[in-house]
Amino acid sequence: MTTLSGWGNVPARGRERLSERIERASAGAVLSRGLGRSYGDSSLPPSSEPIVLGTRLADRVLDFDPETGALRAEAGLSLLELNRLMIPRRWFTPVTPGTQFVTLGGMVAADVHGKGHHRAGCFASQHVRALRMRVADGRVLEVSRDQHPDLLLATFGGMGLTGHILEVEFTMRRVASPWIWSESRRVDDLDEFIARLKETSVEWPYQVGIVDGLARGEQLGRGILDYGRWATAEEAGGRPVRFKRRVTVPFSMPAALRQRWSVGLFYSLLVRKHVPRHKRHGLRHFEDFFYPLDTFRRWNRLYGPRGFTQYQCVLPNAAGVSAVRRLLEVMAREGGVPYLAIMKDCGPEGEGMLSFPMAGTSLALDFPITDDTQRLVDRLNELVIREGGRIYLAKDMFTRPEHFAAMEPRLAAWSAVRERWDPEGALRSAQSVRVLGDAP
Ligand SMILES: Cc1cc2nc3c(=O)[nH]c(=O)nc-3n(C[C@H](O)[C@H](O)[C@H](O)COP(=O)(O)OP(=O)(O)OC[C@H]3O[C@@H](n4cnc5c(N)ncnc54)[C@H](O)[C@@H]3O)c2cc1C
Repeated sequence: MTTLSGWGNVPARGRERLSERIERASAGAVLSRGLGRSYGDSSLPPSSEPIVLGTRLADRVLDFDPETGALRAEAGLSLLELNRLMIPRRWFTPVTPGTQFVTLGGMVAADVHGKGHHRAGCFASQHVRALRMRVADGRVLEVSRDQHPDLLLATFGGMGLTGHILEVEFTMRRVASPWIWSESRRVDDLDEFIARLKETSVEWPYQVGIVDGLARGEQLGRGILDYGRWATAEEAGGRPVRFKRRVTVPFSMPAALRQRWSVGLFYSLLVRKHVPRHKRHGLRHFEDFFYPLDTFRRWNRLYGPRGFTQYQCVLPNAAGVSAVRRLLEVMAREGGVPYLAIMKDCGPEGEGMLSFPMAGTSLALDFPITDDTQRLVDRLNELVIREGGRIYLAKDMFTRPEHFAAMEPRLAAWSAVRERWDPEGALRSAQSVRVLGDAP
């Protein structure tokens, strides 16, 4: 037995059965786990059966059609390796999350979204055509919109609870260069932020906002909006593709440096970059644009020994800017100090039965864990329920089952499919025990 954890660094006792032959190794395992980049307990086993199947050695590309971009690979293939292979050939994944340290299996199970959700939707719902899976009774099945479509759609966003994903088939997209033409601008308050997010989502394929999580009053919601598109070969001008060197954060940040003033300093420097010029633009390497946090390996140590959680929710467009304002105000009232606050515009809900995004505004807030975190998440969840929004399970560590049920009208339909494929409730995670009431 060792210590396993999600990206939020909250430890759990468990063991990872690592194998490059995941078809065989998945027999009898209660859960699959990729690179453990989900923040909370989604990739951790329940306490009574603490063994998970680690997929990351199963990383072969099985088939690729250079005419259409159709690709089939084993579920443990990481996005980092896929990019290393395919970017020099001018192909890129149709959807990418904010880190390359994820596996294809993890991308399907969380149905990940990226800076382009308003155009490209989620990875699995919009782009995955077929899966090979081992289901709870041991059968290995080909699953697609023609074969077992209920299982396919329950697996998109189903957090590994419907079966082990062994292979993933989807379509890559062509890109003209490995460079992004990007612009970023300073935004001075929340109304302007949301208006600009909506504007840029019409004109640009990718966008993301960093909000000053400590700003209050008239400055509430100020920050930086970053948007971009793939640069053409002419714009890129033959610049070579160089993959980034990474720096490792060597130890857990001492408490003396983890203070409100240091977080405030970070936000002020961020906003200051855009003073006096409101707007900056230029060419950026795709890694710098999509994966700025990957520059620092183990940056999760910056939050100290108790770890951290990311609270990510989406508030529907119908709730308006005022709902986002209320959420930021509840956070401030409850003493929440987010080290990072990210805002994105989401497009319409996809087909995944439990996929996170819906048309609206998503906020992702990183908090170090303290004695008050449960109360903070409870208050935020109560607001999200009132406003008709929902939270993202891939980031969650604190949501109570009654809150999740109240914000997820789709839960009953998803649970019915899950029960059809796993009537004994064999597949479980620490998160499903906590949020869905599974046996521990
Ligand atoms: C810096 C950072 C930025 C991020 N940005 C985004 C973002 O922009 N958008 C977004 O959507 N997410 C984002 N995420 C979250 C991340 O994309 C997801 O949590 C993803 O699922 C992690 O993949 P993984 O391979 O590490 O999976 P793990 O964390 O190991 O597992 C996640 C879930 O997938 C299941 N799973 C994994 N492999 C399999 C398999 N083969 N079969 C069945 N189930 C499986 C696990 O059981 C678990 O429930 C980010 C995470 C980090 C750390």
